[in-house]
Amino acid sequence: MLKSFVSAKCSATQLTRSGLLILISLSLLSSCGRSPGVYYEQFLGFGTLIEVKIWGVDEKTGRQAVAAITDDINYMHQTWHAWKPGSLSRINQLLPTEEFFSIGPSVIPLIRRGSELAELSGNRFNPAIGQLIKLWGFASDELPKGPPPSATAIQELLDQKPGMQDLILDGVQLKTSNPAVRLDFGGFAKGYAVDIAIEHLKELGITNAIVNAGGDLRAIGKHGERAWRVGIRNPSGEGVLASVDTLVDESIFTSGDYERYYEYQGKRYHHIIDPHSGYPARGVTSVTVFDSQADRADAAATALFVAGVDEWYQVAKAMGVNGVMLVTADGTIHMTPNLKDRVYFDIKPAPKIIYSEPLE
Ligand code: ADP
Ligand code: MG
Repeated sequence: MLKSFVSAKCSATQLTRSGLLILISLSLLSSCGRSPGVYYEQFLGFGTLIEVKIWGVDEKTGRQAVAAITDDINYMHQTWHAWKPGSLSRINQLLPTEEFFSIGPSVIPLIRRGSELAELSGNRFNPAIGQLIKLWGFASDELPKGPPPSATAIQELLDQKPGMQDLILDGVQLKTSNPAVRLDFGGFAKGYAVDIAIEHLKELGITNAIVNAGGDLRAIGKHGERAWRVGIRNPSGEGVLASVDTLVDESIFTSGDYERYYEYQGKRYHHIIDPHSGYPARGVTSVTVFDSQADRADAAATALFVAGVDEWYQVAKAMGVNGVMLVTADGTIHMTPNLKDRVYFDIKPAPKIIYSEPLE
């Protein structure tokens, strides 16, 4: 665990995990808020660097609070992992039997919430497409070297139309009527976990904090007299695209085509799959969603990425999120007007911005 308190230097950190070199410069995105008055700690969780900042507590309180949420996050990551041994991988082994089986109670709320969010998104966010994600090679620590899967293999899975509506949950008993269903919560588990971490901090009496999981975060309260200021990563390179002053309880989640991808014969294949076409969604580089709930922000970022330039607004409205910033492949930014006064662009030349109608 990497720890620091107030006086720690603000620097990029290199970590080695599962043989992968992860260059963590994301800590820079949150404006290195290790300013006086802020308890700061970072640790690895959900395969990324998790940073916690708490305003106005003593070191002992801060350390205890972070220890508590570190345990939560480690537990959730293992339980909900789509391909490592845990409750979810066991579920995925048993689903094709089409018989009822008992599941770990901690997965139940995730299935319920995942179903709700999938429905609101018109199944653009669809955690039942685990087989498709696996076929593309993303259910693995190591990314594939290519080639992409065959059109026939993709079509075979699409024809079976796996969806969360195919699951039948009765108490702790689960079954599916569709043997093609496999669960992959990668599109919103991090958000769900951030919500639980924030709730835990609140239970411990902490009212001013940020939990930032690799650039996806929820902020509560303030940084003293001012709002917490956080950064949104520039999808087309290093550094920060924009800084944002957060509301008193706000989640900001980004899905991007630069997060996990491989290249084959000059073409990029990234990890956000359009459940309708069966291929990585095209046209968008990143989508950032602003919302009060981290789980919905996370699911919506994935869903709006799939929805693309023509449909994001309608899907954002249906999902009930608060704000959206979408960057297209040519660098144009589509944004809801409510973000205008508190999102500051840090890139030169200034980007072309197209404001949508308000969401409400
Ligand atoms: P990140 O995890 O990089 O923040 P996302 O939140 O968009 O990005 O999650 C991407 C992950 O979600 C993929 O790795 C995969 O596990 C899963 N996924 C991909 N496409 C979909 C989809 N259409 N619906 C639900 N989950 C998806
Ligand atoms: Mg997501």
